[in-house]
Amino acid sequence: MKESPVLLLARALDFAARKHMHQRRKGELAEPYINHLSDVARLLATATDGKDATLVVAGLLHDTLEDTETTFDELATEFGREVADVVAEVTDDKSLPKAERKRRQVAEAPKKSRRAKLVKLADKASNLHSLAHSPPKDWSPSRRREYLEWAKAVVAGCRGLNAYLEEEFDRAFTRGIEMKGS
Ligand code: NDP
Ligand code: ZN
Repeated sequence: MKESPVLLLARALDFAARKHMHQRRKGELAEPYINHLSDVARLLATATDGKDATLVVAGLLHDTLEDTETTFDELATEFGREVADVVAEVTDDKSLPKAERKRRQVAEAPKKSRRAKLVKLADKASNLHSLAHSPPKDWSPSRRREYLEWAKAVVAGCRGLNAYLEEEFDRAFTRGIEMKGS
């Protein structure tokens, strides 16, 4: 029998919270990492009217491969291949230099699956929201601006699928641009 979406979501929330337990966000408020993941999950659930549990679960888990010791096989065993594939699609190749990783995110976004594009959009919208409300202390206005423009370039490759997420991103982008010192 197929697992209930509520059970699946509860397991993913618990898994993500444990995996990111010792991490905090880079902003001045140093929010617990899970706040970013719950934000992304909420954006994705709202965007799809609560109809795509696989997408919301992928949102909760989207940083596990990149930022924790979690493996692809572990995700596939716990949450199924569909979820693991989406998370893998939004994961950078950490063996590459930072600048190349950033360049690839822009170049490869248009080639991603629908769910991966939606996760990317929600992720960048959440990060821009954080940038406006809790910017990393050591980021100069030009660094913030650079991040905003890069995020916009990545999101350009994810448009045309969900008006709500695009609006959330665009609103956060405008707020970021209007920030003091920018
Ligand atoms: P990143 O630019 O990679 O950091 C941004 C990432 O940190 C986000 O994508 C997000 O990723 C995560 N994050 C965590 N907390 C927050 C938050 N509060 N707000 C927004 N994002 C958050 O930084 P790095 O330190 O890794 O630097 C790499 C790049 O930065 C360099 O390649 C260079 O391009 C640029 N740089 C620019 C400088 C400048 O002065 N212009 C100076 C130094 C670097 P996630 O959601 O995946 O966790
Ligand atoms: Zn993220």
